[in-house]
Amino acid sequence: MKLIFEKSKHGIKNDMLPPLDVPEVELPTMLQRKQALNLPEVAQPDITRHYSALAKRTHGANDGFYPLGSCTMKYNPKLNDEMASLPNFTKIHPLQPVETVQGALEVFALAEKYLCEITGMDKMTFQPAAGAHGELTGLMIIKAYHTAKKDFKRNKIIVPDSAHGTNPASASMVGYKTVNVPSDENGCVDPEELRKVVGDDTAGIMLTNPNTLGKYEENISEVTKIVHDAGGLNYYDGANLNAVMGVVRPGDMGFDVIHLNLHKTFSTPHGGGGPGSGPIGVKNILEPFLPNDHPVQETSGKFNLMKPEQSIGRVKGFYGHFLVDVRALTYILYLGAEGIPHAAKTAVLNANYLMEGLKEFYKVGYPGICMHEFVLSLKDIKKETGVTALDVAKMILDYDMYPPTMYFPTIVPEALMIEPTETESKETLDEVIRIYGEIHETIYSDPEKVKSAPHRMVVKRLDEVKAARQPKLAYQFD
Ligand SMILES: *Cc1c(COP(=O)(O)O)cnc(C)c1O
Repeated sequence: MKLIFEKSKHGIKNDMLPPLDVPEVELPTMLQRKQALNLPEVAQPDITRHYSALAKRTHGANDGFYPLGSCTMKYNPKLNDEMASLPNFTKIHPLQPVETVQGALEVFALAEKYLCEITGMDKMTFQPAAGAHGELTGLMIIKAYHTAKKDFKRNKIIVPDSAHGTNPASASMVGYKTVNVPSDENGCVDPEELRKVVGDDTAGIMLTNPNTLGKYEENISEVTKIVHDAGGLNYYDGANLNAVMGVVRPGDMGFDVIHLNLHKTFSTPHGGGGPGSGPIGVKNILEPFLPNDHPVQETSGKFNLMKPEQSIGRVKGFYGHFLVDVRALTYILYLGAEGIPHAAKTAVLNANYLMEGLKEFYKVGYPGICMHEFVLSLKDIKKETGVTALDVAKMILDYDMYPPTMYFPTIVPEALMIEPTETESKETLDEVIRIYGEIHETIYSDPEKVKSAPHRMVVKRLDEVKAARQPKLAYQFD
């Protein structure tokens, strides 16, 4: 497919600017462009076709099943976008005086109130732009807390071996050493192993619950107590909150900080479809360290921006991705106190239904009831046929479905991590089971066909290493 620049033909004019309604001014020379801006010139129907063709080459939750484990690719209700398109939200500027944006500040305050209610936390900041950014912010707060107490020895963060890669990465960015704690045979943190690694150098633990194996951490209260007793703080990676929202609250389990991925649990678009949002919630003891410009309601009823005394500073321009937060608030208000736990329970039910159906063909990594996701291991299939998890993922593309997360968590060999979410119907899940069964049959009858998949896609197997190591991020004009 040609790039829009390659379709450009000089002289095709498409500008339909409204008449000038402000006085015309001459820009100072220093602000003037030295060269004309190189923009593609393409007729309107060709632009439309160009982007429609691009859209057809991709796959989103609007196109079909998208069970990307840990990522919670649920359907995002259109109502969210309708609310986020209201001109009173889109036509304000972050530098406007606070008196003129009281409604926007109220959106933050309301979203904070409901998310604190759901998580059991006391305060929330919406500045972080994604989950990983929330991790960084949360750990900076943990560090500021220990530093304020002049407790400088604490330089280690404990992370289970099933953790998402962003956890140790964030810990290291804040200057902490990561200590791994192994999972037990049920895929949960083993309190005995944890006791061996905590001490007066423990800054805290980062725990995902349900964890990335789709298991509810069985000893969670014991785990948080062990860390607290050692003087550390408990960080809850809330990426999997979709399984438990409205049912149990991390704040009640002994956690001090949590990040939420609004683009996962609260039905806002993921990175590729728009900016994300990774607010963090904290308990009262950590409030003095929150990022600057925290919207709060004063006793007069007026909203204002607060600069907490020992703030870690600012982690993002202005207030974060405001319109994403509008979408999440819409979702919360729409579902309400009954809808939120119902969504979580349906997510768990769907995952268990699918796991039971797929168990017939593929081995489950950690058997037993799962939460909102589960992990298959294709280790035996690989041994018997040479077909890998990657091959199966590529084959799934031929069925107009998105493949599951592959090779994660790393403690399961040949892993496929499946999260159907609550927005899939029983009919879809039955069809998925049928297709995965058909692929299983092909693995044994014609393994070469699976190894050379996909067969129907525009591009076949990509050089993923090259794509990651030598990415071409900008078009080279001649
Ligand atoms: C997605 C995810 C993250 C990172 O969140 P982003 O919003 O992608 O930055 C962290 N931990 C877990 C368990 C996740 O699934």
